[in-house]
Amino acid sequence: MVSQSVDYDVVVCGAGIPGAALACALGQQGWNVALLDARPISAAAVELGEEYDPRVYAIAPASQKFLTELGVWPQIAAARISPYRQMQVWERAGVGELSFDAAEAGLAELGHIIEDRVITTALAQRLESMATVTLMAPAELLGFETQGQQISCELTDGQHLSAKLLVGADGADSKVRILSQIETVSWPYKQTAIVATVTTEKAHEETAWQRFLPAGPLAFLPLGDGRSSIVWSTTPERAVELRAMADAEFMAALGQASEDRLGAITATTTRLGFPLRLLHASQYSAARTVLIGDAAHSIHPLAGQGVNLGLADAYVLAQELGVAGAHEAGRQQPLRRYARRRKSENVAMLTVTDGLYRLFGMRSPLPTMTRNLGLALVNILPPVKHRLLRQAAGL
Ligand SMILES: Cc1cc2nc3c(=O)[nH]c(=O)nc-3n(C[C@H](O)[C@H](O)[C@H](O)COP(=O)(O)OP(=O)(O)OC[C@H]3O[C@@H](n4cnc5c(N)ncnc54)[C@H](O)[C@@H]3O)c2cc1C
Repeated sequence: MVSQSVDYDVVVCGAGIPGAALACALGQQGWNVALLDARPISAAAVELGEEYDPRVYAIAPASQKFLTELGVWPQIAAARISPYRQMQVWERAGVGELSFDAAEAGLAELGHIIEDRVITTALAQRLESMATVTLMAPAELLGFETQGQQISCELTDGQHLSAKLLVGADGADSKVRILSQIETVSWPYKQTAIVATVTTEKAHEETAWQRFLPAGPLAFLPLGDGRSSIVWSTTPERAVELRAMADAEFMAALGQASEDRLGAITATTTRLGFPLRLLHASQYSAARTVLIGDAAHSIHPLAGQGVNLGLADAYVLAQELGVAGAHEAGRQQPLRRYARRRKSENVAMLTVTDGLYRLFGMRSPLPTMTRNLGLALVNILPPVKHRLLRQAAGL
């Protein structure tokens, strides 16, 4: 038996941060939206104990501005956020270093380190309060077909939803992208990012520290309680070893890899690992479908920009759809305008992160001395630094 179809302006598949933010922005415009996710989503306030969520993001000022417009920033800020005002990048101590300071770009901070659960809960609470948005989770998209001015979505539990537009915010393995037959350029980085929360002997000074090692970059992101969240990208084989090590052995390896920049590592949580790859969709839209976030582009985390790019996608798509009006959702014109505005910025960031990965990687053709000279040179060229800073801030 075919269940009766429920009608929406837009169905958003995937309630990660970009998908939830888009649903919120469209809901605020008065659109009738269904947001679905295969995982259960809770709007219940999170108990913020001593332990930080191992998934944290460096959220840029432009993303903060969007989250403020969505009405969720006060909740996020009241929960737990950690500003970072400086960034220190180096390859080998004392040879060539690059430092960024928020004040140089006229900013109060470069951004905030925020836990995934803090942002997703604030968005879920906001969505729950909106009469225009129906949050369905767990609910998994199985397939879809276009029927004239509508797209009909089938869920794995047999439910049917129809809409004028289906948004694929369903991550790097996007079903919406695959079923829309949108091709990708993609390659594995042959690196795994290890994340953990660590305690260091010295204060982090509200600075994000990043060292480029031949096997991949190692970042220390400052947390509000004085600890740091690390993202250590390395070969998959080394990642397996590092995750299996006893804590003491891991802390010694981490101290050595960071040249003890923050002193000895005195405590660590267990480690999680994320395989890394580059991915870019050849087009961002097809017949009545459009992609945002990692479904459209997945980049190396060394610049901490994935969520920020996804939020910028959501912002621009909501804006273009708003200009077109709900009755025009799903038509190619607003979707093409969205793609035109976002593609250049996403490709630029993807190129920079991929370029840095190659420049400092094991197979880099440039000797260490040349790279370090490059870092030192950028460091003494205020206009170049200023531009890089404002780009990272999304301004
Ligand atoms: C180690 C690491 C560190 C990072 N650090 C940063 C950082 O500091 N700053 C930053 O900006 N970015 C960072 N990123 C990048 C960031 O994690 C991603 O860009 C971001 O999570 C992508 O969000 P998304 O919602 O597009 O995709 P996802 O997070 O993959 O979410 C997709 C959602 O879609 C749902 N879904 C999938 N298929 C279906 C289906 N068929 N039906 C229903 N639901 C479905 C999934 O359940 C999931 O909830 C980091 C990434 C890594 C790996």
